[in-house]
Amino acid sequence: MKKNLILVLNCGSSSLKFSLINPESGETLLSGLAERLLSEQASIKIKYQEQTVRSMLFRPFDHQCAISRLVEMLVLHELDLEIFAVGHRVVHGGENYCTPILITEDVKSIIDDLSRLAPLHNPANLTGITAAEAVFPDLPQVAVFDTAFHQSMPENAYIYAIPYSLYQDHGIRRYGFHGTSHYFVAQQATKLLSKPSNETSFISAHLGNGCSICVIKNGESIDTSMGLTPLEGVMMGTRSGDLDPGIIFHLVNQLDYSIEEVSHLLNKESGLLGVSGLSNDCREIEDAWTKNKNPRAKLALDVFCYRIAKSIASFSASLTSLDALIFTGGIGENSKLIRENIVKQLSLLNFEISIEKNEVCRFGQSGNINNDDSRNIFVIPTNEEWVIAEQTAQLLSQNKENKE
Ligand code: ADP
Repeated sequence: MKKNLILVLNCGSSSLKFSLINPESGETLLSGLAERLLSEQASIKIKYQEQTVRSMLFRPFDHQCAISRLVEMLVLHELDLEIFAVGHRVVHGGENYCTPILITEDVKSIIDDLSRLAPLHNPANLTGITAAEAVFPDLPQVAVFDTAFHQSMPENAYIYAIPYSLYQDHGIRRYGFHGTSHYFVAQQATKLLSKPSNETSFISAHLGNGCSICVIKNGESIDTSMGLTPLEGVMMGTRSGDLDPGIIFHLVNQLDYSIEEVSHLLNKESGLLGVSGLSNDCREIEDAWTKNKNPRAKLALDVFCYRIAKSIASFSASLTSLDALIFTGGIGENSKLIRENIVKQLSLLNFEISIEKNEVCRFGQSGNINNDDSRNIFVIPTNEEWVIAEQTAQLLSQNKENKE
């Protein structure tokens, strides 16, 4: 029997991603995804060893149904896997949480209160917590926050240049996201350098559907590109990233957009999708350019890479030394075209890509992709689930030690 496994849950409003992880080795023993929850098309896909089992869910088609089906599958297939605790990815921990926390009624009400800062994410994360509590009433549940790693940012990095009272009275400040990913890749990069963590400086670029840049000094985040919400910063799959706030007034006052329509435009219809007019998926845009010479696809890729390079260069202002640039996330881990295009624009910082190494580091292969004369450029596949499992297990063993 495999014991002490952590069930990691990442809950969206109509989806639930799950994995069963050994927190020490990071091995994923089972994983899956439930989609279209709360609709009659709700379905679940569970991957165990080399097999994938797909099935439809029954009424009420909710997150609890999905977790119960996972448990049924463990029993039905007599899988020797014992779940020890549940670790939840929670998007916004505000200023309340800079480390993982054991979930209690008080913690749930704080996560609920923080929904005002993350209305698209925290309510869904809470749904996942409630569903897991119903299915596993005796297991400890831990929340690991996407914002927590960035709580080490200094004031000059997190304060917006707007009236200070908005921060004091309403918590309007920069928080940052993708914290577990930036933390993980910085730890891995530290191992590659064989240096103590408190002597390292990195800039990491998490490029997936959502994209963010982070500056990590001495193992701590000191600045990042996302802000109060994940909309700030570099261009993403469907999010605009930074733009002149005047555009919002123009859309509302001159073009009769409602605020909801502006929010939808900037979050769901912009970024790679908005500029290319084709897709939010980087692979499709790359194909549209390399195979069909679609000029809007080229423009979308150029704007994407230029904005990321500009952001990386501007973040170098917060460092006096820089050990490595790190690429991670679906695009950062796989797209040689995007990495090459970004790095070409960073020669002033002494970054130069090796075409051969850039070709090799893809599809899960980590390593450095720089020329010998260049500063280090690492490709490191992220593993947010492992961080959540590891931090959940660590918190529970600390709590146990404190009690003894
Ligand atoms: P999420 O932020 O949803 O976790 P991912 O980190 O999985 O997303 O990243 C998804 C993005 O990665 C998509 O734009 C996808 O096209 C891109 N991607 C994945 N593989 C490749 C590849 N081989 N080449 C270019 N882009 C890729």
